[in-house]
Amino acid sequence: MKLFRQGSSGREVRDIQSRLVTAGFLDRDCEEIEKELFGPLTDSALRAFQQQRGVIADGIVGPETWRSLVEASRAIGSRFLYLTEPPFRGDDVAELQRRLNALGFYSGKEDGIFDDDTTLAVEQFQRNLGIPVDGIVGTKTVEALLRLSRVTKQGSVASVRETEKGLPAGGIRGRRIMVDAGHCFPPDPGEVGPGGLKESEVAEHIAVRLSRILVEKHGAVVIMSRRPGESVSEKERASRANEQGVELVLSIHLNASQDPKARGSSSFYFARGHYRSPYGYRLSNHLQDELVERLHTPDCRAHGTAFPLLRETSMPVVIVEPAFITNPEEEKLLADDSFIEKTAMAIAEASAKYFEGIKSKAEG
Ligand SMILES: [Zn+2]
Repeated sequence: MKLFRQGSSGREVRDIQSRLVTAGFLDRDCEEIEKELFGPLTDSALRAFQQQRGVIADGIVGPETWRSLVEASRAIGSRFLYLTEPPFRGDDVAELQRRLNALGFYSGKEDGIFDDDTTLAVEQFQRNLGIPVDGIVGTKTVEALLRLSRVTKQGSVASVRETEKGLPAGGIRGRRIMVDAGHCFPPDPGEVGPGGLKESEVAEHIAVRLSRILVEKHGAVVIMSRRPGESVSEKERASRANEQGVELVLSIHLNASQDPKARGSSSFYFARGHYRSPYGYRLSNHLQDELVERLHTPDCRAHGTAFPLLRETSMPVVIVEPAFITNPEEEKLLADDSFIEKTAMAIAEASAKYFEGIKSKAEG
């Protein structure tokens, strides 16, 4: 498809702007000011949108960003939803799940993917309301859902359920943990530092070291998400984690910014709409505590987001970004063996604390 960026204009830009308005990233007033012109307001709205969606925040509308814009601007009732392969995805599905959860029909993670759990919840809902039970979300089901929906105070049933199941305790020994080295070169180096260091190289380096510590020091069972040199999509990594029945995925990446001064450690856990994974939240905060203490990096915090790897997995997953490869000083550190060792130690220690059932500092 044609690419759109700052400076572009025309009907397509108008369409992009109205989708950004629907998704809540662009003010209606701003839309009026830049009418059909891709100006700085549209640019910053788009970058914020891309960041939240886990698409590269480059301010360019290409095929992937376009798909996300379409997903984001779907309203419930705008199409029929049912179980199919590949599954329906979008904010309308997330909205459906949120409403079903709020009404007490457990539809699993509010991840915007229409899966088996969602189908069961829809059928249960239909059965309760005396609507034909077909698992298809059509006009009647949507009407009933909108009529009955009300926001409950304690949040959705999904987060209540996950909390009830209890956070893991009993230690890390014998746990099945997937270690995921982000990217793979060729063809995908990930981000590249000013001195030419590749994110893929560093991620693999940390992953190998981390696996050894997890096995030798902590007695965990480690499954790698891919073989060395094997290029694998995020989707495939997620489905391998699901098939292998692991209890946790540690995904290693590095942060990047257009600002070479940006530096520090950050981590990401699954969150979407009203839902936040309590497991991911706890582990991310342990990661922050350990990384900042051992590496003396600035604390760029734990963030809730819905990257594909986070939303398509059925177990807790965290993405850890110990430093910025785009920062010249941190790039030098990342090429240093002792820094890699300390990073791997920090990640292993945070995982051990998580499996011990220890609360993170952020939880008090
Ligand atoms: Zn990455």
